Amino acid sequence: MAKLEVLKFPDPNLRKKCKAVDKITPEYAQLAQDMLETMYDFRGIGLAAAQINRQIRLIVVDTRRPENEDEKEVRGELGVSELEKSVTQPLILFNPVVKRKEGKITYNEGCLSVPTYFEIVERARLIDVEALDVDGKKIAFTTDGLLAICIQHEIDHLDGKLFIDRLSPIKSARIKSKIKKFGYGAHDDDEDDDLTDATPAERSEHQL
Ligand code: ZN
Repeated sequence: MAKLEVLKFPDPNLRKKCKAVDKITPEYAQLAQDMLETMYDFRGIGLAAAQINRQIRLIVVDTRRPENEDEKEVRGELGVSELEKSVTQPLILFNPVVKRKEGKITYNEGCLSVPTYFEIVERARLIDVEALDVDGKKIAFTTDGLLAICIQHEIDHLDGKLFIDRLSPIKSARIKSKIKKFGYGAHDDDEDDDLTDATPAERSEHQL
């Protein structure tokens, strides 16, 4: 296993648009495995190739929680939906595309590329996804819940977009300048009222 370095905002490489994969080579399959290992190591639930400085359209996702953890506590109010349970995880998705979106949902998102920051982001509630699996086979599924949120977050990375771009312009600018000035050391959450209910355990579990 190779643990990969995860880029952090404001690294300009996170802003590059990623290219579709024509052929899934053994090197890409290995890269996907290394990304999964890296994601688990950081206790993330999703990772995009852009985050490890590879500009290809590849994401890995695993929103399942370990069985011995209190699922409800870790996931907060979201729970696990039947649709989400019907999708086999972990997912390795090459060239993932959202074909259809339905409804709206908000969630307190974090990101391994913006560590220690969590903000409420609005996404589509339910999505139809198409992608290629690690064998190059076309797959399609419908999901909602945390899995739908996570896939939309990861596809954003492939387009050079971060969750902090999806906040109100004032909030987005404030967080970006705070990070540029102070980095990712301890920061107080005085201005971030969204965080009042989030426990430290929840925060460390929800980086996408
Ligand atoms: Zn992310």
